Amino acid sequence: MPSIHVAADVGLTASPASTSSPALSVTREDGEVLIVVDVQNDFCPGGALEVPEGDAILPLVNGLVNIYGAEHTIFTQDWHPGGHASFASSHAGKNPYDTTELEYGTQTLWPDHCVQGSKGAQFHEQLVVPSNACVVRKGDNIKVDSYSAFTENDQKTLTGLADVIKSRGYTKVSVVGLAFDFCVRWTAEDAAACEGVTRVRVFRDATRSVGLPGTVESAEESLAAKNVVLETCASS
Ligand SMILES: [Zn+2]
Repeated sequence: MPSIHVAADVGLTASPASTSSPALSVTREDGEVLIVVDVQNDFCPGGALEVPEGDAILPLVNGLVNIYGAEHTIFTQDWHPGGHASFASSHAGKNPYDTTELEYGTQTLWPDHCVQGSKGAQFHEQLVVPSNACVVRKGDNIKVDSYSAFTENDQKTLTGLADVIKSRGYTKVSVVGLAFDFCVRWTAEDAAACEGVTRVRVFRDATRSVGLPGTVESAEESLAAKNVVLETCASS
């Protein structure tokens, strides 16, 4: 099952100090939470599922974490067992970025990435993760992928994050991280469907995309249809 932790309880106690941050045009509003999606080594340059310029968002993300504070920031971490169903290597004759049919529908296949306990699954070393922040680990069901931090790709299995949002009374959600066209998109869309949530925005400049054919365009269209607003956080 997906699981929700306090960062210190999963060994995340050595958070780096935030170095100089760029100027941001953001203030946290009442009832607002920040979700930082999958800023992990495997999604950054040199990683197994490299998102182009994935590490370029770090100064903005750290600046946002500083603004929202640990108690109003939730981090997500892709966290797969070896042999996961989303890995091309788990399917004979398939290559990364092919698709296959799983029990719950069509699944894009990926290089092996974010294997539990591996360096690639760790947060980027420059990401500021306060030790008392909430961390949602997803994708740990070997048969089901989970782009969203709320609901796995079977559209049934819940991670428990919606209950956290509701119990803390959040009404506004801002989403950043990797990658815009997959996990950020699905997380933002599910946030918009949460009970009591009236506004979801994505700070586009604090995201980067995988960029498979058509994925950025379909993410933009789908987010707009669900009233998720795209904004920028850096002061121009
Ligand atoms: Zn994954």
